[in-house]
Amino acid sequence: MVKICCIGAGYVGGPTMAVIALKCPSVEVVVVDLNQKRIDAWNSDTLPIYEPGLDDVVKQCRGKNLFFSTKVDESVMEADIVFVSVNTPTKTTGLGAGKAADLTYWESAARMIARVSKSSKIVVEKSTVPVKTAEAIEKILTHNNKSEIQFQILSNPEFLAEGTAIEDLFHPDRVLIGGRETPEGQKAVQALKDVYAQWVPEDKILTTNLWSAELSKLAANAFLAQRISSVNAMSALCEATGANVAQVSYAVGKDSRIGPKFLNGSVGFGGSCFQKDILNLVYICECNGLPEVAEYWKQVIKINDYQKSRFVNRVVASMFNTVSKKKIAILGFAFKKDTGDTRETPAIDVCQGLLGDNADLSIYDPQVTEDQIKMDLTSKKFDWDHPLHLRPMSDTTTLEKVRVVKDAYEAAKDSHGVCILTEWDEFKTLDYQKIYEGMQKPAFIFDGRNVVDANKLREIGFIVYSIGKPLDA
Ligand code: NAD
Repeated sequence: MVKICCIGAGYVGGPTMAVIALKCPSVEVVVVDLNQKRIDAWNSDTLPIYEPGLDDVVKQCRGKNLFFSTKVDESVMEADIVFVSVNTPTKTTGLGAGKAADLTYWESAARMIARVSKSSKIVVEKSTVPVKTAEAIEKILTHNNKSEIQFQILSNPEFLAEGTAIEDLFHPDRVLIGGRETPEGQKAVQALKDVYAQWVPEDKILTTNLWSAELSKLAANAFLAQRISSVNAMSALCEATGANVAQVSYAVGKDSRIGPKFLNGSVGFGGSCFQKDILNLVYICECNGLPEVAEYWKQVIKINDYQKSRFVNRVVASMFNTVSKKKIAILGFAFKKDTGDTRETPAIDVCQGLLGDNADLSIYDPQVTEDQIKMDLTSKKFDWDHPLHLRPMSDTTTLEKVRVVKDAYEAAKDSHGVCILTEWDEFKTLDYQKIYEGMQKPAFIFDGRNVVDANKLREIGFIVYSIGKPLDA
């Protein structure tokens, strides 16, 4: 029986390994983490992350061939294949702060693998890492293990999207495996291919060299984010000219060379990956003497920041140039629907911006807890102009002006304006007549995700702002 261990039981490690366990009943999968609370949650009825379909997959295999444990050393020692799916956030101090990937978790995982291993292993980079990381990992592994055993490093980046992780894992567009072009390297590639081949069609399993696989993940995220920034840049021009971004996207997306996906105007992208991976790409370009290429990718983040501040400015300007002491409802805090993840969510910037103008916020999200929202609102903020690209939240903002409530109606009650910041399906079907009646007048809706029917809301009496669409009279 092939034994797999995955270090890191997060948004990637948990779902990915659960699907491998489900699809490969003859493989034993142990997911380990240093975080006892997270492992306890994986072993309970309330999983640590919200992801449609995940509960069902975990229930089918947990205790059979899928295990969650804090016994990191023991599980790694026994495994044939060790996936490393630890977090690789942006460095906040020292060389490359604010841009480079922080590989300290990766390094300590690699040192641990080297220390405890007594048999040869395939070590798989599942985390998103800078190109050439495998070279560093190889050094750490071989210099820290004195025995004759061999380590083969593979790059197998994960392309799942939160909110659709299980579907993405069941039917991936592709599985990418990068390995050394030596006979041993190719043997390791084949071993990992054999795992995925249990459910992924052969033509969807791509193999490349290590560096191409590592760079492809950064490139894919950069391209996706770039599409969003491109359409958002157009949305600003649409608002200035009377064009409608939905119509422009539809027309542009009909071109088969471009395609229709990822072309919705919005308040901006969020999530733990897009900004972090582009910053990392920028850093790698700079380190490789390619400042012009770095500058190109920087603009993707700059437009995203611009879109968020443009949204805040629109809210304030529409509400007679001040939101001071006005109650504003925030509907949605997660960075996208069907997840409780708030990492880099645009809602943080929008809320901080509104608090900066002394607004009173009433926030509702179906999956994000009050503690999480309050922690996020006091977190550090990305800022190109700051020497470390990170600055703390402005001193003038305070959590005293933030209330987290249990539904959209309570959030909107007595408010002057409603900002929709996550495209949760339930926001499409709210009783907006009821919401309108409970609000101060004029009642504003700022749809940061273009999910509501603006014309219907206007008929009720709302003043509606949608991203990239003609403004209300
Ligand atoms: P996460 O923070 O949810 O999970 C990482 C886990 O690793 C944490 O639970 C942490 O406690 C654990 N960990 C860290 N060091 C450890 C160690 N030495 N031993 C044991 N456990 C350790 O992160 P995530 O969202 O799952 O992302 C993991 C990686 O996958 C990142 O590199 C990310 O860029 C990449 N990725 C994420 C997504 C996504 O949608 N979240 C998608 C594709 C790729």
